[in-house]
Amino acid sequence: MISPQNAQHEKLNSRFSLPDEHGRFGPYGGSFVPETLSYPLKELSSAYEEAKNDPKFKEELNDLLNDFAGRPTKLYHAKKISQKIGGAQIFLKREDLLHTGAHKINNALGQALLAKRMGKKRIIAETGAGQHGIATAAVCAKFGFECKIYMGAEDMRRQSLNVFKMRLSGAEVHGVEAGSKTLKEAINEAMRDWVTHVRSTHYILGSALGAHPYPGMVRDFHRVIGEETKRQFLEKYERLPDEMVACVGGGSNAIGFFFDFLEEDSVRLTGVEAGGRSLQEGQHAARFEGGQLGILQGCKTWILQNNEGQINPTHSVSAGLDYAAIGPEHSYYRDQGRISFGYASDNDALEAFKLLTCEEGILPALETSHGLAYAFKRASECSSDHMICVNLSGRGDKDAMEAARIMGVEGLPEMSFG
Ligand SMILES: *Cc1c(COP(=O)(O)O)cnc(C)c1O
Repeated sequence: MISPQNAQHEKLNSRFSLPDEHGRFGPYGGSFVPETLSYPLKELSSAYEEAKNDPKFKEELNDLLNDFAGRPTKLYHAKKISQKIGGAQIFLKREDLLHTGAHKINNALGQALLAKRMGKKRIIAETGAGQHGIATAAVCAKFGFECKIYMGAEDMRRQSLNVFKMRLSGAEVHGVEAGSKTLKEAINEAMRDWVTHVRSTHYILGSALGAHPYPGMVRDFHRVIGEETKRQFLEKYERLPDEMVACVGGGSNAIGFFFDFLEEDSVRLTGVEAGGRSLQEGQHAARFEGGQLGILQGCKTWILQNNEGQINPTHSVSAGLDYAAIGPEHSYYRDQGRISFGYASDNDALEAFKLLTCEEGILPALETSHGLAYAFKRASECSSDHMICVNLSGRGDKDAMEAARIMGVEGLPEMSFG
């Protein structure tokens, strides 16, 4: 007899068991890398396949997520702001309460545990604004791994406090001077390092991006967000939300939040990209607005590039959404009509950042504020029995100074930890 739980699994396996063995999500994903990288990627794939079917790995990771990172995170009914907006009920999945301030620690812990299992003693990672770098540096301090973080020189200048925090955790932070001196160049440099130190080193990639097995593996490490959300809704409200909203940079917090709801056809899923200053080329990072199919850093997906295949410059007020490619699984579920996408501008995000803080006393990250801006607008079009759950991917302490600067606050201290 098939128990309901098994039936559920069958259903999941048939419709949602991507990627396939080549790492493809339909026409997206894959592994477009030079020969030298195909060996470490294969080694990683098989190590991950083994680990994910090992109950001991799951148990150890679960303990770390609970005791080190602070899971499960709360599901919070934001009643005051729901009332103020005067439409749907807004719920927040509080990933901002995790250790190091964002969802990134879920993936950093999972990959660090995998690295330990593979006998690697050295970790490398890329970081844009520094959130993934800080999570990785913290986890490496805890595990006793040697740690090197690649960061664009321009990002290092903008985020000098984060650089200091990483160094304090024992990480070496390497400034990348190439190109636009930001995230894309940092990833290139990390891949170069990996090729030359394959035997000792694991590369902890920070989003559901890159070559196989990263997109599926990073998603799996974040699936706990959606699993908890589902359980919490059923326990407390005996129903699922009507809609779920998450901001999308590479797409890791969003796909982790959405994944266990993909088969729940009644739940509308929306990803929100960075609309920047405008939708003109170079002024935003909304891949589904101005992008096309292409390949970037090992992965086929929607990309902001010109007709010669050169990557376009991007802009967002939030560094974590400021990247030219979107995770391949998002491209796939957009084609399937299962996940919809919208965007919020820099200004919309700043308004949502202020509104949540003054109405609920919760300071969200600027990345997260894009999802909030979309959800607030949508809530105003809905009735009061409609439930919208937003993934509060991170806290905004890191963004307070930048927000103050944009809002024209005077007399801010100059900070440099260079
Ligand atoms: C890094 C980051 C993001 C964007 O990354 P995803 O992989 O798209 O989740 C979003 N929110 C916060 C708080 C972040 O730190």
